[in-house]
Amino acid sequence: MPSYEAPLVELKRIEKSYAPRTATRSRKVRAVRGVSLSIRRGETLGLVGESGCGKSTVGRIAARLLEPSGGTLHYQGTDITNVRGKTLRRLRQHIQYVFQDPYASLNPRFTIGRLLEEPLKYNRIGNRRERQREVVEMLERIGLDAAYKDRYPHELSGGQRQRVGIVRALMLNPEFVVLDEPVSALDVSVQAQILNLLKSLQDERSLTYLFISHDLNVVHYISDRVAVMYLGSIVEIADVHDLYERPSHPYTQALVSSIPAERGAGKRESVILSGDLPDPAALIGGCPFRTRCRHAFDRCAAEMPDWSEVAEGHAVRCHLWNEEQAGTDVRQTEIFASAGGTGL
Ligand code: SF4
Repeated sequence: MPSYEAPLVELKRIEKSYAPRTATRSRKVRAVRGVSLSIRRGETLGLVGESGCGKSTVGRIAARLLEPSGGTLHYQGTDITNVRGKTLRRLRQHIQYVFQDPYASLNPRFTIGRLLEEPLKYNRIGNRRERQREVVEMLERIGLDAAYKDRYPHELSGGQRQRVGIVRALMLNPEFVVLDEPVSALDVSVQAQILNLLKSLQDERSLTYLFISHDLNVVHYISDRVAVMYLGSIVEIADVHDLYERPSHPYTQALVSSIPAERGAGKRESVILSGDLPDPAALIGGCPFRTRCRHAFDRCAAEMPDWSEVAEGHAVRCHLWNEEQAGTDVRQTEIFASAGGTGL
């Protein structure tokens, strides 16, 4: 079990905006809207949401691969939003990123041995013999024998490549790893192997993970807590079991209703989400989910909902949960039970 302490990484009111892609648009696209997250040392925080909701952008900002347009990023209590040069280089030893497509992230012209040795060499760690020994030890740790160090990425299976991608991120012995859809491109049988490898490496090395995925089953399996993201905003956050047992935001309810019943609260109706994610540039103010929410009412278009506490450590951002609306006797269980349909 992870030992929860003070947050290792904190994102505070993070914003990320992009210039409009077409000349006919003048308004910037807000890809991330005031996201605040605390990631505790030793835990796995799952970040879940549909494609295009901004979760990878949040991951890249958390790993200092992308600069936010606003807000601050803290590591071990220190503001690292604007660090540069040697300080940033040192920081990169502690914070690593694993990409979804291991083939794209591994240079095809380098052998596996060279790919694993590079981070050590770049950071002037050990001599050649020591680095080679470390490479072989790490390969063996992920179930590949020493002969694999002379192979090229294209000679490996997808699962083997992802194992190499993960272990490459761990060569510098980091504390915090952002895993961006690390098993999405793999077969289900291989996914389980990779998830188990991630768990055992976390136990051995006291790693802290931000695990990004659109797959709720995968997130359920690996996470201690889960944050649900919709159109650039976090809309619900809870302990993993609480979130799947008592999804409280209409969006989370739709997501959870689409997975097998044994993951959630037993008997459950499916909830259809109509339409795709709306154009983020077209949404100003109000709840970002209002264009797809079956419970939307006047206030949803006028005001962004604030956080409401569902239970200890379980918070949701929906007007149905604030005090006045609770007084009109709208309850989460009723909302969920009344939803009909055939799937997400
Ligand atoms: Fe739906 Fe309104 Fe709640 Fe947003 S605030 S999720 S639109 S009920």
